[in-house]
Amino acid sequence: SIPLSFFGGIGGASRNGILIKGSNYLEALAQTEIVVFDKTGTLTKGVFNVQEIHAEQMPEQDLLELTAYAESYSNHPISLSLKRAYSKDIDNSRISDVEELSGFGVKATVDGKRVSAGNKKLMERLGIPCAADDLGGTVVHVAVDNSYAGYIVIADELKEDAIKAIRELKAANIRQTVMLTGDNESAAQKAAKALGLDKYYANLLPADKVARLEELYNEKTAKGKLAFIGDGINDAPVLARADIGIAMGGLGSDAAIEAADVVIMTDEPSKIASAIRVAKKTLGIAR
Ligand code: ADP
Ligand code: MG
Repeated sequence: SIPLSFFGGIGGASRNGILIKGSNYLEALAQTEIVVFDKTGTLTKGVFNVQEIHAEQMPEQDLLELTAYAESYSNHPISLSLKRAYSKDIDNSRISDVEELSGFGVKATVDGKRVSAGNKKLMERLGIPCAADDLGGTVVHVAVDNSYAGYIVIADELKEDAIKAIRELKAANIRQTVMLTGDNESAAQKAAKALGLDKYYANLLPADKVARLEELYNEKTAKGKLAFIGDGINDAPVLARADIGIAMGGLGSDAAIEAADVVIMTDEPSKIASAIRVAKKTLGIAR
């Protein structure tokens, strides 16, 4: 049977915006040793600002327009940010054959031209050589009809609360804090360093994130638990594989909230540290 105090712990957490879907997850939270974060939308705001537009064969505004059109059907934080940067209404009749490639980018036909927008891996897949990626931000490369058309450098900011989250996890004696991201090395390194994370892995596809998680399982003790926290965009497989899958409700998708073991109702990653504290306290009382 479940000790009565567990209900108090779960109830207290829920009043604090943390939904724990069962007493087994409360116990697991108390034994957390490794906390793994997704980057975009979890540690960062997920709101990108355009830093630079480099167009090869057209005015910069035209490249931004083609990209915003190609991105128009996606709900990825990058797409939403590029549509906001473009700022004009999108005429859907100019767009057809939209494809979203998780962890790569998007493709769409715009005004009869095939437009692909995404990372270096997407360009490699298309066999299109592209510029270096170490531009200090997230780089969206654009190809039009199979030739390189330029890139847009965008940058996201860390959440204030992410700094607090890492600090509080360290204070709670969490063995390792780790970030997994599909973003490029330079953007990942910058974020990891600013946050004081123990480890980070960049350039990961959703399947690579699962493989990294498997490796991290070897670094905890037998009874220790591993928690993954993400916003549910492109990270559902890792969310499912973690001992404790935590979705952030603020930005997260309904499917992610369904699949998660714990849901944070706000967009504050530091709530994971609160959840661990509540769990430890509750179990201390229960025993
Ligand atoms: P993260 O791991 O940081 O949450 P994602 O897995 O969602 O990021 O995406 C990984 C990378 O794939 C992004 O950094 C970007 O380079 C590329 N990408 C994904 N979706 C898009 C998109 N809609 N438009 C452009 N690039 C995208
Ligand atoms: Mg993500």
